[in-house]
Amino acid sequence: MPDKPLSDGSIARMEFLLALRRRGIVDPAVLRAMDEAPREHFVTAEYADEAYEDQALPIACGQTISQPYIVAYMTEQLAVKPQHRVLEIGTGSGYQAAVLSRLAREVYTVERFRTLADAARVRLETLGFRNVQVVFGDGTQGLPEHAPFDRIVVTAAAETVPEVLVEQLADSGIMVLPLGPYDGPQVIVKLTKCGGALKREDLIGVRFVPLLRGQAREL
Ligand code: SAH
Repeated sequence: MPDKPLSDGSIARMEFLLALRRRGIVDPAVLRAMDEAPREHFVTAEYADEAYEDQALPIACGQTISQPYIVAYMTEQLAVKPQHRVLEIGTGSGYQAAVLSRLAREVYTVERFRTLADAARVRLETLGFRNVQVVFGDGTQGLPEHAPFDRIVVTAAAETVPEVLVEQLADSGIMVLPLGPYDGPQVIVKLTKCGGALKREDLIGVRFVPLLRGQAREL
């Protein structure tokens, strides 16, 4: 019996994973998590055809869903373990949270647009990502009631290291975030807490939407 022919969709997803590997993503757990988060459900309908191309795409409220390579790269740098509790700032579509939820025990994700937070919550529930809590609020304040976190990832660019979030990081914890001016060069920074000290590594150049203070005012 010949194998069932692959659909265009599954070919696109295989190429998507191969492209991530080619660009240097090697952690099999991260590749599996990327495979288990169906990006076509996180982009707006008009971009569904482009969901498996390696590009950021517009979502509601003038925001963007990050480029898959950057999602995989930041996830790999976080080195998430199955027992970890992870905090994400900047839910957006919920895609990064979905990827993290396949690797961690629990994921908390904070979004300053109520529209995006509500849509992401429904989307994640519908798709069966059950260990994710979506919180509407100002992520620059973190979630003190649920701290400390083993891992923190910020998916909007901060101009300076957000000290409030550093305080909510557990000892030996890792935080990964884009740092830099809103309209200039930004870099992915990895911070590791060891004892009282914070080790900083500057990784790759990126472009992210800004991390803004306060909840968004919407009509
Ligand atoms: N991780 C997202 C992409 C994030 S885009 C995904 O996978 O789709 C960055 C998001 O950060 C935007 O939705 C923006 O509204 C949000 N954001 C910016 N500043 C914030 C803040 N202070 N608190 C919470 N969310 C914030």
